[in-house]
Amino acid sequence: MQIYFLGTGTSQGIPVIGSHHSVCLSNNPKDKRLRVSVWIKTEKASIVIDCGPDFRQQMLVSNCQKIDAILFTHEHADHTAGLDDIRPFYFKQGKDIPIFAQKRVLDNLARRFDYIFEKENKYPGSPSVEVNEINVSESFSVNGEKILPISVQHGNLEILGFRVGDFAYITDASAIIESELSKLKNLKVLVINALREETHHSHFSLSEALNFIHLIQPEKAYLTHISHLLGFHDEVEKNLPPNVYLAYDNLVLTI
Ligand SMILES: [Zn+2]
Ligand SMILES: [Zn+2]
Repeated sequence: MQIYFLGTGTSQGIPVIGSHHSVCLSNNPKDKRLRVSVWIKTEKASIVIDCGPDFRQQMLVSNCQKIDAILFTHEHADHTAGLDDIRPFYFKQGKDIPIFAQKRVLDNLARRFDYIFEKENKYPGSPSVEVNEINVSESFSVNGEKILPISVQHGNLEILGFRVGDFAYITDASAIIESELSKLKNLKVLVINALREETHHSHFSLSEALNFIHLIQPEKAYLTHISHLLGFHDEVEKNLPPNVYLAYDNLVLTI
């Protein structure tokens, strides 16, 4: 299985438009972060988690040729705003693109992208999706690849993380209820969000993310959904515990 980090930045991305913050002005490519997304390639399936405003650019840079499913963690714009850009995959693959999300998120997407969900009198040229509702207590599969949804708290919102084999991806978490922790045993790689050092009402801070990693004990952990306020990539990474890393855009892991 290969994990391709398509984007590792928080909602505004890095650099932030108009910002003169030193991290936003950095020349290090690892300090440039598109909105969070990963592409999971297994022997059975090509799966993208979230479809934010940078989706088109991410698909071009990663040279992704086919999408078997898009899984949505939640409805916030930094995770969904690129849905229109599934058009080339819809044309090339010749069928509705399967999307998977909780009912609340599907309803939200259907309101915001009504023309994509329209079944009658559809404008020719609009993409179409095959809608699949996720029940957090049940695993589901894409091309026979088993996916386990994980309930995650994002402030007051219940959102989803996903486990595929020995890999788990959680973003935008501020807490995870204890009964979900058993789904995160024996991981080779855990991806978890870490916004900045200061606390935030709906995102783990760096120390909260490190505490969570300590609790879960994966072999390796990668931090994502990073704000420019966390600091320079190379400096932050120097101070992380062993086997904990900052993810960066276009990082590829083989598990
Ligand atoms: Zn987000
Ligand atoms: Zn969010």
